[in-house]
Amino acid sequence: MLDSYFEQEKERAKAGLPPFALTPAEVEDVCLGLEQPEPGQAAGLRSLLENRVSPGVDPSAKVKAGWLASVAKGNVESPAVSREDAVRMLGSMLGGYNVEPLVEALSDKTIAAAAAEALKKIVLVYGHFETVVKLSLTNPLAKSVLESWAAGEWFLSRPEFPAKLVLKVFKVDGEINTDDFSPAGHAPTRPDIPLHAQSMGQTRFPGGNEVIKKIRAEGHRVAFVGDVVGTGSSRKSACNSLMWHIGEDIPFVPNKRRAGVVIGGLIAPIFFNTVEDSGGLPLLADVTGMKTGDVITLDFAAGVIRGAAGEEISKLEIKPATLKDEFRAGGRLSLIIGRQLTAKARQALGLGEAALFTTVENPRPKQGQGYTLAQKIVGRACGVEGVLPGTACEPHMTTVGSQDTTGPMTADELKELACLEFQADLFMQSFCHTAPYPKSADVKVHKTLPPFMVARKGVSLRPGDGVIHSWLNRLVLPDTVGTGGDSHTRFPIGISFPAGSGLVAFAGALGFMPLDMPESVLVRFKGTMNPGITLRDAVNAIPYFAVKQGLLTVEKKNKKNLFNGCVLEIEGFEDLTGDQAYELTDASAERSAAACVLALKEERVAEYIKSNVALMEKMIEEGYQSADTLRRRIAACRDWLENPILIKRDPHAEYKAVLEIDLAAITEPLVACPNDPDDVRPLAAVAGDPVQEVFIGSCMTNIGQFRAAGRILDKAGIPPARVWITPPTKMDAAQLMREGYYAIFAALGGRTEMPGCSLCMGNQARVGAGTTVFATSTRNFDHRLGDNTRVYLGSAELAALTALKGKIPTVDEYMAVMKAKVLPYAGEIYRYLEFHKMGDFSLGYVR
Ligand code: SF4
Repeated sequence: MLDSYFEQEKERAKAGLPPFALTPAEVEDVCLGLEQPEPGQAAGLRSLLENRVSPGVDPSAKVKAGWLASVAKGNVESPAVSREDAVRMLGSMLGGYNVEPLVEALSDKTIAAAAAEALKKIVLVYGHFETVVKLSLTNPLAKSVLESWAAGEWFLSRPEFPAKLVLKVFKVDGEINTDDFSPAGHAPTRPDIPLHAQSMGQTRFPGGNEVIKKIRAEGHRVAFVGDVVGTGSSRKSACNSLMWHIGEDIPFVPNKRRAGVVIGGLIAPIFFNTVEDSGGLPLLADVTGMKTGDVITLDFAAGVIRGAAGEEISKLEIKPATLKDEFRAGGRLSLIIGRQLTAKARQALGLGEAALFTTVENPRPKQGQGYTLAQKIVGRACGVEGVLPGTACEPHMTTVGSQDTTGPMTADELKELACLEFQADLFMQSFCHTAPYPKSADVKVHKTLPPFMVARKGVSLRPGDGVIHSWLNRLVLPDTVGTGGDSHTRFPIGISFPAGSGLVAFAGALGFMPLDMPESVLVRFKGTMNPGITLRDAVNAIPYFAVKQGLLTVEKKNKKNLFNGCVLEIEGFEDLTGDQAYELTDASAERSAAACVLALKEERVAEYIKSNVALMEKMIEEGYQSADTLRRRIAACRDWLENPILIKRDPHAEYKAVLEIDLAAITEPLVACPNDPDDVRPLAAVAGDPVQEVFIGSCMTNIGQFRAAGRILDKAGIPPARVWITPPTKMDAAQLMREGYYAIFAALGGRTEMPGCSLCMGNQARVGAGTTVFATSTRNFDHRLGDNTRVYLGSAELAALTALKGKIPTVDEYMAVMKAKVLPYAGEIYRYLEFHKMGDFSLGYVR
């Protein structure tokens, strides 16, 4: 019994790792063992059951709760676990399968008092709340549970927020992105937090984990300090790894930690939220006076950080105002769920609002207040006209996306949240990051995640279908709000606030999401584009002109970034299709913006929605699940088409800043240079640089760009640079095949990859180490596409010509090719997938 468990415990201990959580079969073995324990085994088995089972609605938790419920009822006996013990242990399971037996136990005299005490500390009770309310009319202990929830004892029984915290600094200079915390190359280990954490900092701050360990061994708590912390992807795993190294164990939750302190000169907004949600303490402060090994005191009362001699080294601001409550509650999401329970309990008891929690004074609209487009869309999702910046709100989540490298963690969070059915209108899971070259851990995910999501009424894509956004964008409803566990979840219609997997799970499970409405920056394009200039050049124009106007710096130290944490609102491209619009919203991730909205014309959006309805109908026909959810979304799209009116911003809306870009001033392509998406230069400044690899793919691309690249590359022989071609979806790939473009790509020796993220993610196929690459993908952080690579980012048209030349072409060379091969055929090349006009089509090339 449990031999394999103890074997892996030994093996993992050798690698400095705790054992895995128990599997359902192992939990069964533990329970059986507890019924008739061998001499000397009872305490060990009990400890395993108490501490090594994942909580919530994990399958192991189901077995544990089922057995404890039987013991609590007296149906099963154990010399090691009494009926009261069983109730107490059920009480340590956070929520989920344990709640029903605890509520039932309120009516069993022997264990009712213990059950009441247990329930008072649980906030994840969902529908069982109503049962307790009903029971409270006749059962005094049920009433005491309700009163306890109303009094917020679940919150007050936890340690108060400290007045001071003494910490020892571990500092990394410059920018630390989420890939530095959670390297893409180690993506398959992400669900195993302690193992994955071993890869933290391996290239960015090698040896750092040992330094942190040493500081902790000395008895200090650690403050992780950086100039710019957490840019890049919205990886919960980045936060998981960091908390594992600097945080504290969570009672009764195996292999997870919280309560780590992160101090940054800048902390990327998604990462900031993820730390809040993980029960950590993110703090913004000037960190220039701190270095590794410094002992600092966070003096919250005085609002300063002090050095070892008590001197002030920096100001300290607690923001948002609820941060102390969040930390005390074990995380922002726990606080929100608990506060909701308290509010409901008070309402049920006829009590007024609780004065327990920090209240947020939301900004009040003035007479005739004007709202921006984003403020109005979020306002509608909150049931008000508009939401001003700084407002703490909880918009309804209409669409939520999850991709495969974060999906398993989202699934774990859903289990912890005891979610058995999504409350968000549509939840979609993709497999774009791992499908082409799956490792064994990925294969398991491809098999287990679809049924997990579909069982909760989510829509599951299939491995090989393509990039999450190129699908999810086609399932979105206009003027609605959503989120996703990928930092590029930035809908072309409506608005999305991407988030870490914990918040994504929360949004999916509860159907709303906490949001501190950011300020908006308006980017207004005017004039018309010059011939040969592409939308990608307009994308690159945003950082290019922002730098010129002093609103953005490329230098990391004391980096200035006007867009950081703001909503980017773009005007001047109203005629774009949904596919094209995404190129602009997608790139707002590289600006570290919280979200992006684009003003579009109603007729363009209506065409997009009609096309999307045809796509969803085809998905149902081809067996995609959950068909009910897709049908519901089709009905919602049709409703919108009945009255296709889009929200418009108020003319007198106020913005943090306005960046005007004259399209006529862009006279040559703009290219993001190695290795910073903000370091944009005109083509002439980089022409002639030799390039060995070219990547045409990622969610930044759509079918038109592949046609353009195909035209440029057709009959030009084998190019000196290796060409990677990866259409974003299988529908794009199928159409390109039907039109003969795959034959062109084959003739040039191009490497055509399975639709998906491919090189953009860099966790599977990689370009050659030390090469220079020209890519159409989103970002060019160090090592993302390959080790020690230099990566330029620009349009597919420029990428194709760069491949042909083996170096970046001159402006004249580029313009000549565009005039000869692309611009005369623009109408044919830049046609987008309009599924409603495709007759009897199939999603893939082969039916
Ligand atoms: S293509 Fe790149 S940016 Fe887009 S979802 Fe995939 S990895 Fe992320």
